[in-house]
Amino acid sequence: MSLSTLKHIWKTTGFRLTIWYSLFLIASSLVLFALAYFLLSSSLQKIDQEAIQLELNDYAATFQSEGLDTLIEELKADRAEGDEDFFVRLADSQNSTAFLIVPSRYAKEFDLTKLEETVIKDNGQWIYLNAKTGEHELSRDADGIEIVSTHLSNGWQLQVGNNTGKRKAVLERFRSIFVLIILPLILIGLAGGMFLSFRALRPIRNLIDVLNLIINKGETKARAPVNHNGDELDKLSILFNTMLGKVECLIDGMHAALDNVAHDLRSPMTRLRGTAEAALRSNQQNETYREALADCLEESESVLTMLNGLMDLSEAETGVMKLEFKPLDIKLLIEDVSEVYQYVAEEKEITVQATAPEELYVSADANRLRQALANLLDNAIKYTPNGGTIVIEAFAQMQQIVIIVKDTGIGIPPEEHSKIWDRLYRGDKSRSQRGLGLGLSLVRAIINAHQGSVDVMSTVNAGSQFILRLPAKLDHKYQLPATLEQTH
Ligand code: ADP
Repeated sequence: MSLSTLKHIWKTTGFRLTIWYSLFLIASSLVLFALAYFLLSSSLQKIDQEAIQLELNDYAATFQSEGLDTLIEELKADRAEGDEDFFVRLADSQNSTAFLIVPSRYAKEFDLTKLEETVIKDNGQWIYLNAKTGEHELSRDADGIEIVSTHLSNGWQLQVGNNTGKRKAVLERFRSIFVLIILPLILIGLAGGMFLSFRALRPIRNLIDVLNLIINKGETKARAPVNHNGDELDKLSILFNTMLGKVECLIDGMHAALDNVAHDLRSPMTRLRGTAEAALRSNQQNETYREALADCLEESESVLTMLNGLMDLSEAETGVMKLEFKPLDIKLLIEDVSEVYQYVAEEKEITVQATAPEELYVSADANRLRQALANLLDNAIKYTPNGGTIVIEAFAQMQQIVIIVKDTGIGIPPEEHSKIWDRLYRGDKSRSQRGLGLGLSLVRAIINAHQGSVDVMSTVNAGSQFILRLPAKLDHKYQLPATLEQTH
């Protein structure tokens, strides 16, 4: 394996996770082993020391009740029987060995003179005689004799001990068992780490695959597989797919909008060019030029209106549109807009009724909300035959301000209900009317920018209702008027 391949493997999250997992497993096994070893060794020592202490207490009691001679007799009898279990030493007041039992089963040699050099100050003090070095230092695990001492009332010293060989053998066995299991444990740790990281990172690899497909092969429809098990990576895949869906939708929308704009610009631009060319070709009077220029102006104005509308729309949709939120009196606003359209309505003998309670306020940008209402009213007049009625009403409902623009016009077929909000979309029956297909898209963008919503309910040949809902929340600087609490 080359160095760069190794470097590449080291950089992968899967490999690092495996290493971290294995290291963690090994470290925790070592800690657990150390703890178990310590507990085992100290409880074995405790058991051994309790047995030694019991023997010492027995001999001390014999001395106490029956004197030194009886004690020595008893010890000699024990030694003669050859069933001595413990190391026993009696030392005189000069700490010279007066009597000694070293059980024959102690295979090792001990330097017993060391005991004569060691001064025991306290009763119950433990000392340790190592097998080879003879160092007087209590060590739980080394091979040696563990001795406890007590002073007798005649100034002598009684010492009882036992060797630690058995204990050491058990601990040694424990250690070798651990050495035997640590290797398989490391292997299991590595295999487990590899398996876990492979499984855990599968959704990430899927995301990478999908991105590769999209970026390198242009497969924009590619999506990450979802398990629906509800874990974080699954949620990530779902969000990732949703985001791809939205991006795709936006791109499709942009393509469609661009196509529509190009298509819709072509006719006025061709007309504009045709008018100018015709005027230039004809060798006419000033009047003809005037007319041609007026036509050009009209066409360029309609192009400009459309471009401005598109700009407004994209500002509102992308959140760039600057909105100046202020508390607006809805009644005044509705009356204002109705008044502007009064003349056009009268021409078509359409009655416009505006109803709203007094002091009904909403926090909104006055110009933009007026523009949205104007677009709805303009449509209502446009698509309502002569003699119809238009009602604009407003009221507070739950925590919302609702404004409804209702007409008795031509209505919208159900299959067009979702399309009328698309930019540059125009209904089949509406083509005879003036318009660019931008009015409703702008209404929706403006209302969305106000955190509101807009819906349509319509029946063909009976009329349409456009329902605006805006949050009733006013700017905190202003008091919420009581009328907002009322329900319709
Ligand atoms: P425009 O009115 O310029 O065509 P809009 O975006 O305002 O564009 O409306 C889109 C389409 O929705 C219209 O072409 C028309 O078919 C339909 N529409 C809108 N308002 C009404 C209405 N009040 N009555 C009937 N149809 C309507």
